[in-house]
Amino acid sequence: MRKKIIAGNWKMNVKPSEAAALVKAVAEATAQYGNVETVCCTPAIDLPAAIAAAAGTHVGIGAENCHWKESGAYTGEISPAMLVDAGAKYVIIGHSERRQYFGETDETVNQRARAAIAAGLVAIVCVGETLEEREGGKLVEVIERQMNVGLKDVTAADCAKLVVAYEPVWAIGTGKTATPDQAQEVHALIRATLAKLVGAEAAESVRIQYGGSMKPGNAAELLAKKDIDGGLIGGAALKAADFAAIVAAAN
Ligand code: PEP
Repeated sequence: MRKKIIAGNWKMNVKPSEAAALVKAVAEATAQYGNVETVCCTPAIDLPAAIAAAAGTHVGIGAENCHWKESGAYTGEISPAMLVDAGAKYVIIGHSERRQYFGETDETVNQRARAAIAAGLVAIVCVGETLEEREGGKLVEVIERQMNVGLKDVTAADCAKLVVAYEPVWAIGTGKTATPDQAQEVHALIRATLAKLVGAEAAESVRIQYGGSMKPGNAAELLAKKDIDGGLIGGAALKAADFAAIVAAAN
């Protein structure tokens, strides 16, 4: 049985002065659902406040990106070791907004994911196709490439620290959601691709989240699907009540 994991992606939306209150509200509203792994991924500058607010609760805190080097002359970057030192437990890697606006490639996703896992973080590695790719019949090709290159040299042992998020780009922040059947089809493809990389047993153990306009009204039917093991939540993670309703649906 894979433990369901619901992670919020706050993006560039919550100020440091607001972070503690949101984490505390999430912790309170989800306290009764301790069997769901509940995570808030925050802007780097919010991490100290978020981590302090989550102390003693079941909520884990993560970052939204990291570099692959441990230290050095990389102005503006944050290393996995720094995230661990700050008390973060998770990091999102290769979100489509990083790919679209910041030149992230499958190769840099691979470097970041392997460095994050090696440092002891849980890497939430995002994959997903654009509408153009889906409509052009390239869905399978795109997902397989993102998985094969993005997770190259990730081992079966690394899978304990790996979560994959399927986020169709056309569903992120648009209000459009993949249907449960559409999502399940890609989740099964992700698991099959992963099995070729790390073996069937390790692939079975990896949680695959769905992300893309998941909200209280559609979470239960998505999470009921066989290979949908959680959610990566953008907009609905900014209101504790909405986020908690999704955690409740995963419970
Ligand atoms: C996301 O950005 O990871 C996401 C899923 O956003 P939203 O829930 O707002 O579509």
